[in-house]
Amino acid sequence: MTILDAPPTGTAAATARATPAAPVKTQRLVDLFEYGLDSPICLTWELTYACNLSCVHCLSSSGRRDPRELSTAECKAVIDELERMQVFYVNIGGGEPTVRSDFWELVDYATAHKVGVKFSTNGVKITPEVARKLAASDYVDVQISLDGATAEVNDYVRGPGSYATAMRAMQNMKDAGFTGFKISVVCTRQNIGQLDEFKAIADEYGAQLRLTRLRPSGRGADVWDELHPLPEQQRELYDWLVANGENVLTGDSFFHLSAYGSALPGLNLCGAGRVVCLIDPVGDVYACPFAIHDEFLAGNVRSEGGFQEVWRNSELFTRLRTPQSGGACTSCSFFDSCKGGCMAAKFFTGLPLDGPDPECVRGFGEEALQKRKMDGSIPKPEGDHSHRTERAPRRGVPVTLSLTRPAHPPVSACEENPLAGFTPGD
Ligand code: SF4
Ligand code: SF4
Repeated sequence: MTILDAPPTGTAAATARATPAAPVKTQRLVDLFEYGLDSPICLTWELTYACNLSCVHCLSSSGRRDPRELSTAECKAVIDELERMQVFYVNIGGGEPTVRSDFWELVDYATAHKVGVKFSTNGVKITPEVARKLAASDYVDVQISLDGATAEVNDYVRGPGSYATAMRAMQNMKDAGFTGFKISVVCTRQNIGQLDEFKAIADEYGAQLRLTRLRPSGRGADVWDELHPLPEQQRELYDWLVANGENVLTGDSFFHLSAYGSALPGLNLCGAGRVVCLIDPVGDVYACPFAIHDEFLAGNVRSEGGFQEVWRNSELFTRLRTPQSGGACTSCSFFDSCKGGCMAAKFFTGLPLDGPDPECVRGFGEEALQKRKMDGSIPKPEGDHSHRTERAPRRGVPVTLSLTRPAHPPVSACEENPLAGFTPGD
């Protein structure tokens, strides 16, 4: 595993901000990161809300394009800025980023400007020809989403046919000789028992497995109760990571599990606004891809000073880089590695940010969840770009999942065009 799955960072990106509050003398990297960096080391950029699928747990509630999305010229201006800030790579996602007609143009532009690209895809556009092109580049990495090692489990959350699409894309990547691409799995109650099978699939295709945590963000808020791993499965996941974690990426998303024993490799720190942030399709900058809410909105790349101004000087990010109170967790003997868990998970389950994570392995989160007032005060993720077709899941509308009857087929062009309103080359 590597820290936040990031490639080595260079001097500028890894330079701690010289804030007055920064410690004079620090030993550990994590202590420096706590005070923020001049440039993010894990920048996620969602290029579009358009998507051919309707995954029930989509963190950005994607489906339909937003007509206000950044134009090609605006995206290139952001890339220019990232180059100036020496951001060495960016995680591109969506929606399904490859459905933007200028997607490959932007990837080429980024790599020509020394900004490496790792993009997440459901595989829909990874044809044999595209796979060969990708295999020829040293600066592009690909992450194919797969949330079940079998079609039954995957299509349960990602929709019918999505397993076949992902497997076809992987086969194309393998045939093109692209080794080391990523298979990205959101860990759920339904797939924790398949960890060995996921690893076998990754090995078979010459890929690397990446496991991430399900957060109650976007449409994920509506299915979190049903999908998030049970306590005994959290333990199973932790034990599996300890035994098999070598060469498995996690995006540092399981540091709350460290309280089971020794800390898992990684920063063990909520990097929101410190080393992590999100640029969304309309240019809004949030502290973290899982924290899409006004509370965590720092600014917009279209405003004066652009992304750099937001990253370095926004009031929100400045605040997040000051020492935070651990609240009730401070007295926990695992606080040093667990740090109270994930800010976004707490926020969207209505728990205090300075208290335990809802999936606290000591059970304090569960207790806190029971004590919540269910009076409508639990914050809701902002924005809903879900398809408007009858069977597609939407924000706030309860979804009934069934392992034998996935409810939301991929959106076909004749049913609803995910690119509606998108002008090619715009
Ligand atoms: S809010 Fe959660 S997902 Fe976001 S950086 Fe912090 S720990 Fe990670
Ligand atoms: S009490 Fe807080 S610090 Fe301790 S394990 Fe639970 S979430 Fe982590």
